[in-house]
Amino acid sequence: MMMIDNPTMCPGTGHRICNDCMKACIYQKQEPVNIPQIETRILTDVLELPWGFEIYSLLTRWNPLNVKRPLPPAPSDGPRTVLVVGMGPAGYTLAHYLLNEGIRRCRHRRPQDRAAADGADGVAPMASAPRLIRSTWVSELYEPLDERIMAGFGGVAEYGITVRWDKNFLKLIYLSLDRRAHFRVYGGVRFGGTLTLDDAWRLGFDHVALATGAGRPTIIDMKNNLIRGVRKACDFLMALQLTGAAKRSSIANLQVRLPAVVIGGGLTAIDTATELLAYYPLQVEKILERYEALRREFGDERIWSMYDAEEHEILDEFLAHAEACRRERARAAEAREEPDFTPLVRSWGGVTIVYRKRLSDSPAYRLNHEEVDKALEEGIVFVENMSPVECVPDTHGAVKEVTFERQKKDEKGKWRGSGEIVPFPARSVLVAAGTSPNIIYEKEMAGHVPARREEQVLPELRAEVERKARAGADSN
Ligand SMILES: Cc1cc2nc3c(=O)[nH]c(=O)nc-3n(C[C@H](O)[C@H](O)[C@H](O)COP(=O)(O)OP(=O)(O)OC[C@H]3O[C@@H](n4cnc5c(N)ncnc54)[C@H](O)[C@@H]3O)c2cc1C
Repeated sequence: MMMIDNPTMCPGTGHRICNDCMKACIYQKQEPVNIPQIETRILTDVLELPWGFEIYSLLTRWNPLNVKRPLPPAPSDGPRTVLVVGMGPAGYTLAHYLLNEGIRRCRHRRPQDRAAADGADGVAPMASAPRLIRSTWVSELYEPLDERIMAGFGGVAEYGITVRWDKNFLKLIYLSLDRRAHFRVYGGVRFGGTLTLDDAWRLGFDHVALATGAGRPTIIDMKNNLIRGVRKACDFLMALQLTGAAKRSSIANLQVRLPAVVIGGGLTAIDTATELLAYYPLQVEKILERYEALRREFGDERIWSMYDAEEHEILDEFLAHAEACRRERARAAEAREEPDFTPLVRSWGGVTIVYRKRLSDSPAYRLNHEEVDKALEEGIVFVENMSPVECVPDTHGAVKEVTFERQKKDEKGKWRGSGEIVPFPARSVLVAAGTSPNIIYEKEMAGHVPARREEQVLPELRAEVERKARAGADSN
């Protein structure tokens, strides 16, 4: 039944992803029935059987419980070739449904990621795609998450989304689509650059579906919005995942300092805070390891002479923190426990999420309260009713503090500034204030869109975009 309702998305929407059913649960006086958890359990139980992946894969196409259509119809003879732009959840789900409707050919085109759109080398091939997989998915397909190399499939689901969601599930979806005879996938192609709408018609596509996800991040009204130490949360998460900075072996440069303040109340704010909390000890330990290697090679004096006063201060701070992490690791190893860096990170200023309304108003709480729970358990602090005013620079021009104005409800129930300014020490500021819809193609190619298609497609798109914009920045 699960595979009828949610065929490609069931690995995508399982545990930790979609909690709408839990929010709607009628058992209000007890813990809600955890449907996502149940779906994931059933899926992983099946995958752990011999031929488990093949059972899943078969059920995406054939399902005896689907009385109306147990089998996909034969590919249609009519002109039905669809270009799907984007390989996130929207794109891959659409491709699945189109293929099951008998669409003759369905192609995705996408860049490796939005930041490195042009020149990316595309989607990693699935070596095992054509042959049947007999063993369990853990022995054949599973990769440990801290070693997993991005395959470039899944859009934001691959680099965003909570660490508690198992990204190995993306491989299932990818494999099951990749095996379909009428599906082709091309990476490293930017729609609006490498390929235009005119090209698509010339290449013989009958339909183009834009599944390009969210657009640029919201720039909030805050003084010194872009001084050193301030970044957009999406930019931080992309840098963390796509450069592999979170991996021990990576030499990617992604510097964060504590205390850290995350501005926003959505799930991106929660993910950013928890990722930062996990990344910080790793970052300083990696720096200590490299420092020790360089020191053996060049000696102290030469290393320190390379840095200016500000860099001295930062390196000193990172080395001291790394020594403390190392001591904690040694203590935990002796006690046969997992190391607990939370008290250390807290003592260095910790990670604080600051939101302009109450926690219970926040999209994070309304969409997935479990993620909020987990974040608080991990030691994240959540501060309510504060709207950002200014990032205050230190003598080197990097952020040292953010000031907020306390918000209060007026007699009409609207949140308003109270005039009270509250400073928060902050060496890193991550802004997670939502994104606007992705209408880049229309912006870049204005006037290039053929009139006939524009009449048919774009007004609908525009109406949808405007409706979403009206719904407000919180609806990210
Ligand atoms: C940090 C973060 C955490 C999240 N956590 C969760 C969570 O825990 N649970 C949850 O349910 N949701 C979560 N979300 C939301 C979820 O990731 C998105 O809702 C989902 O990815 C949207 O899917 P999509 O297919 O519409 O777009 P995307 O996933 O954004 O995919 C769009 C794809 O199109 C490509 N593209 C864009 N422009 C072009 C172009 N011109 N040419 C070719 N290709 C293009 C992009 O590179 C991308 O691969 C999170 C989002 C973020 C940012």
